[in-house]
Amino acid sequence: MRPDGPPECPFCRIVAGQQAAEIVYRDELLTAFRDIWPQAPTHILIVPNAHIASLAYIDEKDCPLLGRVFAVINRLAAEEGIGQKGYRVVVNCGTMAGQTVPHLHFHLLGGRAMRG
Ligand code: AMP
Ligand code: ZN
Repeated sequence: MRPDGPPECPFCRIVAGQQAAEIVYRDELLTAFRDIWPQAPTHILIVPNAHIASLAYIDEKDCPLLGRVFAVINRLAAEEGIGQKGYRVVVNCGTMAGQTVPHLHFHLLGGRAMRG
């Protein structure tokens, strides 16, 4: 089951153009924008345009979406000049993992050395 996007979902609002964000990529499946509180010189969030509450709601039907996510991440990493240096992709799923916005998002982080 996929819960409908709550009207107050900030990432649905960004996708719909109802809330400001620095959008760096958009297509029919995905939108990518800079994190408002960056944890690295490059910190971009990649989100599905459709509201999906978390990774817990992904199944096999979503393989095309997930393939697109990683192709776009590689493209954005190259554009940011971190494609060869290295970068990190993070998904927090659920409150215990630290997910604070209940709309699936992939963090693309790079531009500084990362531990762990
Ligand atoms: P998470 O903790 O994995 O749910 O990550 C949520 C991320 O969304 C955090 O890194 C926030 O800084 C970021 N964030 C929250 N609201 C916005 C917004 N309106 N525009 C851009 N990034 C946001
Ligand atoms: Zn949403």
